[in-house]
Amino acid sequence: MSADKADESDDDLVDYEEVPEAEKEAEAEKEKEKGGAKGSYTTLHSSSFRDFLLKAEVMRAIGDAGFEHPSEVQHNAIPAAMVGTDLICQAKSGMGKTAVFVISTLQQIQPSSDVDTLVMCHTRELAFQICAEFERFARYLPKVNVAVVYGGVPVMQQVSMLRQERPNVVVGTPGRVLDLVQRGELRLDNVKRFILDECDNMLDQLDMRKQVQETFKRTPHDKQVMLFSATIPSSVKPICRKLCKNPQEIYIDDKLLTLHGLQQHYVKLREDEKNRKLNDLMDALDFNQVVIFVKSRQRAYQLDKLLRACAFPSMVIHAGMRQEERLARFKKFKDYKCRILVSTNLFGRGVDIERVNIVINYDMAQNSDEYLHRVGRAGRFGTKGLSISFVSNSDDARVLEDVQDRFEVKITTLPDEVETSSYMAS
Ligand code: ADP
Repeated sequence: MSADKADESDDDLVDYEEVPEAEKEAEAEKEKEKGGAKGSYTTLHSSSFRDFLLKAEVMRAIGDAGFEHPSEVQHNAIPAAMVGTDLICQAKSGMGKTAVFVISTLQQIQPSSDVDTLVMCHTRELAFQICAEFERFARYLPKVNVAVVYGGVPVMQQVSMLRQERPNVVVGTPGRVLDLVQRGELRLDNVKRFILDECDNMLDQLDMRKQVQETFKRTPHDKQVMLFSATIPSSVKPICRKLCKNPQEIYIDDKLLTLHGLQQHYVKLREDEKNRKLNDLMDALDFNQVVIFVKSRQRAYQLDKLLRACAFPSMVIHAGMRQEERLARFKKFKDYKCRILVSTNLFGRGVDIERVNIVINYDMAQNSDEYLHRVGRAGRFGTKGLSISFVSNSDDARVLEDVQDRFEVKITTLPDEVETSSYMAS
């Protein structure tokens, strides 16, 4: 979205920020040059979760999750976040941003019968996943009660759930959250933390931004605000800053798309050669799970049908499906009951499926951000992965060039043979 458009409804925002934008921008740049929030993923092995002095209950859950060392973003963000500092945090997909806000929330929370923490994100699947992450880390905090709310299911169901369960942490999509707030069923008077995941997406789209702002206004002035994304375009940064008070800004490697362990290739081909090529690739490559991205629902259906006809048991997912169906399919894939997913962009952001090691852009992403989010589905948290993009016209080629310029990464033509061990953990 253009900066103009981003400005359109800035007036709606509660303006807590006193420092002029230009000054803030310069400060953040200086910070980045100093290398304050940078470093390398591999240097963190000397750092330990123990250094954060977390509650025993949270430490125990971290141990159960098998987390040994904090990732770079966790190392930089958790100490500030857990003492209530506002945060604007950008780090590549799969680097563990979710744990930053989950752990720092659980560290601070003092459960009562009010909503203490509100997390908003743009898709229902992501809401569901964040809720599961809260539950995982709160397992030794029995008084912490987490609930998830999203559209597409009858609102009264969620109303009665909220009345009965009185959650302390609510995760939801903006439309449904606002609806529940306006009905007086979700009370935000005592919210202490306001968190947006994939914040650029929500603040970039005007309708969602309005819902976020409307909800934000219903929360108390004194609270912690934490905003996260893999990409935060400069047009959105001022909006982020307006939501925060003296935020700590953390940008990890936003210039480099060296998604740890991810090999990135492209194939130049004609549109009518795509199916054949895909078939050959599926035959030749070893994979745990693969996500194939296409540009429309109709193409998703067609490709899914074709794959199944060729004895590749695939499954399709897109935003037009009934909510229950979408969640059921998401769960099936996450539970490893299906290994090939054909998806529209719905699946492109935030969703964390541990075993996905190959992403294929059957239809190239429409811009570099979309590319980053899509290929970030493979090679999560430093595991190995492979991405292959089909480039069939000049627009596709332009996106490929943009990605390489912007992230200073080299995407090479797909070699005849790709060594399995290079994209698959042994
Ligand atoms: P992001 O939000 O940055 O895209 P996620 O929070 O979804 O990334 O994390 C990606 C995956 O890495 C998740 O499966 C998560 O459980 C795992 N993970 C996060 N932090 C750690 C850690 N410190 N050690 C091991 N695994 C981690």
